[in-house]
Amino acid sequence: MTDERGRHFLQIPGPSPVPERVLRAMDRQVIDHRGPSFQRLGAEVLEGCRAVFGTSGPVIVYPSSGTGAWEAAIVNTLSPGDKVLMVETGHFATLWRKMAARWGIEVDFIPGDWRRGADPAVIEARLAEDRSHAVKAVMVVHNETSTGALSPIAQIRKAIDAAGHPALLMVDAISSLGSADYRHDAWGVDVTVSGSQKGLMLPPGLGFNAVSEKALAASKANRTPRSYWDWAEMLGPNANGFFPYTPATNLLWGLKESIAMLMEEGLEAVFARHQRLAAATRAAVRAWGLEVLCLDPKCDSPVLTAVLTPPGHDADAVRKVALEKYNISLGAGLGKVAGKVFRIGHLGECNELMLIGALGGVEMGLSAAGVPHRAGGVAAAMTLLEGARAGNAQPRADERAIA
Ligand code: PLP
Repeated sequence: MTDERGRHFLQIPGPSPVPERVLRAMDRQVIDHRGPSFQRLGAEVLEGCRAVFGTSGPVIVYPSSGTGAWEAAIVNTLSPGDKVLMVETGHFATLWRKMAARWGIEVDFIPGDWRRGADPAVIEARLAEDRSHAVKAVMVVHNETSTGALSPIAQIRKAIDAAGHPALLMVDAISSLGSADYRHDAWGVDVTVSGSQKGLMLPPGLGFNAVSEKALAASKANRTPRSYWDWAEMLGPNANGFFPYTPATNLLWGLKESIAMLMEEGLEAVFARHQRLAAATRAAVRAWGLEVLCLDPKCDSPVLTAVLTPPGHDADAVRKVALEKYNISLGAGLGKVAGKVFRIGHLGECNELMLIGALGGVEMGLSAAGVPHRAGGVAAAMTLLEGARAGNAQPRADERAIA
């Protein structure tokens, strides 16, 4: 077992490491959540969330995990007996489907092989067949955290429109928000579900619903009993910066800081950094002679990379030995791909050298676990990052300061 000197490398695809700035912002005395200081914080954070989600509409913030925000999306808009269309992109899509089924929702689950994103053409074909408009919502996971595949949300909206279908579009952006390009309004999303512990660089504990006018109207007409998750209950006090019950005050201080960090770097630069780190990770995997789980380059995730171990080699053995010898946590394979893949998270508070350190841990972990591979993955990642940086016309703020 490692003696844990030095920094632990938390390279799972969320929770992601919390930046020092965010830790310091949360390290303070709790305040009265019905007083004027909280009101200012609440108003600022609720406004700031809109920029991150890309919406001019309301963003509702729950003290919950992402799973709670999934349930909020369902109970506000759907009723038992309603039909929805979902896509089997991986483990999280499967869990969301199970939750919907428990609420008595009838789910048409488009099958998938867990190696690519949702196909808009298949969605369009299914909706075109639904002439009575029985399908109330299309529910898709944007970044499938179990596989490392993105689904094309803007194209899925186009597919819904091309079929002339009125279904709501509900998107799980739990592991994409703040890391992968995401635009609630511009992409015509009705409900975006998210969580605090991934691209927002916070500890777990906040769940989000960004809500379109159409979704709000659906929630007003929806008769499903609900209380804690009820959007209307939240939106009343939120209009004045308050919450209907005790909010997660210190996480909101953290959220204020993490939004400031994202805005200072600029969302475009944040997304480009994630793309660079992801490309370098894939270069390392290929140099090792291993396979990336996602088969469609258009769907490669900027958030994480799932790596297949060769048949007969347990991916969990790589994770175990890498943790024990090198103090790095890698993501486990989930559901159907358990034991077959390990996942490298490169999201949130991550830069080139942190990634190179992490890939060094993976390369040494592969050797220690006896997984056949070639050397040189880290070197391939470095070459890619040097090229990306050389071709980067926009130096970052820290480089400008040196120049
Ligand atoms: N959806 C996706 C895409 C996720 O990555 C996760 C968690 O990793 C969840 C849903 C569930 O969120 P939570 O564990 O915060 O409840």
